[in-house]
Amino acid sequence: MTAEMSDLPFLPYGRQQISAEDEAAVLEVLRSDWLTTGPRVAAFEQAFAQFCGAAEAVAVSSGTAALHAALQAVGIVEDDEVIVPAMTFAATANAVLYQRAKPVIADVLPDTLLIDPVAVAAAITPRTRAVIAVDYAGQPCDYDALRQLCDVHGLVLIADACHAPGALYKGRQVGTLADLSTFSFHPVKHLTTAEGGMITTQNPVWAERMRVFRNHGITSDHAQREQKGTWFYEMQELGYNYRLSDLQCALGLSQLKQLPAWLTRRRQLAQTYQQLLLSLPQVQPLALSPDIEHAWHLYVVQVPQRDRVFQALRAAGIGCQVHYIPVHLHPYYQRHLQTGPGLCPVAEQAYASVLSLPLFPQLSEADVTRVLQSLGSIVRHLEK
Ligand SMILES: *Cc1c(COP(=O)(O)O)cnc(C)c1O
Repeated sequence: MTAEMSDLPFLPYGRQQISAEDEAAVLEVLRSDWLTTGPRVAAFEQAFAQFCGAAEAVAVSSGTAALHAALQAVGIVEDDEVIVPAMTFAATANAVLYQRAKPVIADVLPDTLLIDPVAVAAAITPRTRAVIAVDYAGQPCDYDALRQLCDVHGLVLIADACHAPGALYKGRQVGTLADLSTFSFHPVKHLTTAEGGMITTQNPVWAERMRVFRNHGITSDHAQREQKGTWFYEMQELGYNYRLSDLQCALGLSQLKQLPAWLTRRRQLAQTYQQLLLSLPQVQPLALSPDIEHAWHLYVVQVPQRDRVFQALRAAGIGCQVHYIPVHLHPYYQRHLQTGPGLCPVAEQAYASVLSLPLFPQLSEADVTRVLQSLGSIVRHLEK
């Protein structure tokens, strides 16, 4: 079976799509005067804000930089605590450490793997300043519950929405559900700028702080420059070089036009997976909340003997992936935050069985059928 299957083209779990129009947009910038910060940065920010229905969008160099900028903007400092879910990419918690604050890891719900509001409530201390909710796989968290908790305790609510551009919660758009929402434009995400990120918010003061933060902390107040001489600039706070170039913003703008069609295609493919899985009870998809419209960054299933299934699928030319090692099990976190097994049992149990199957817009229904036929014969074989 394996040898026969591996003659078929390798299917990655995710992949970007670059059109001739994307190429032309990038080439146009290459031939212009502005390679880095120029007119396309503001244009991409505006278009992305409009896509999300947010007042402000700030472009930065990665999804990780977006998280860092959001935390700095709301004033997270040394010894503050920020609650993050166990089931996420390490960057969510790492950004908290960049501000010398402490990530406090909360467990997730067993059926959706989204942050558990009860676990969040239990993790709140007098030092808690913010909660970062991760819209795992593309499904928005329970923002009403999280908002209520944050309001009661005076906490900032940040959405790590890197999986979920275009998703909805109770008819409201991702990008407007939290005080700040962060996105990534890495090639496996919904749209790409090679590397890149964005933060959306309704708060113009935070947006301005993030624009200063991404440029070394340098203020570029035109009126001041006018007054003191055009060369003048000064650094008010410690910032970073987290800028996104015009070259990348041109690609992002062009990609963004495709996003609605790509979301539709991802939803169709997920529907096909859901349908076909009904006849494969050994493989369980995650639960879907009735309150949401999913963005389907990942198609995650839970399987028995995950590592053996992973190996066999790879051998059959099907690129699956594990999302994620729970944050608190990474050796760095175990060493520096004294975390370890037992801290978030739900995430740990899920980690043993989760597998992300291929999902990207160019995937065909035949590819989905192939993935599930392989998966079916693998799990049935392992049962023997
Ligand atoms: C991709 C991702 C990030 C980081 O984004 P980069 O652009 O790779 O820095 C952060 N959080 C989550 C949940 C992600 O999926």
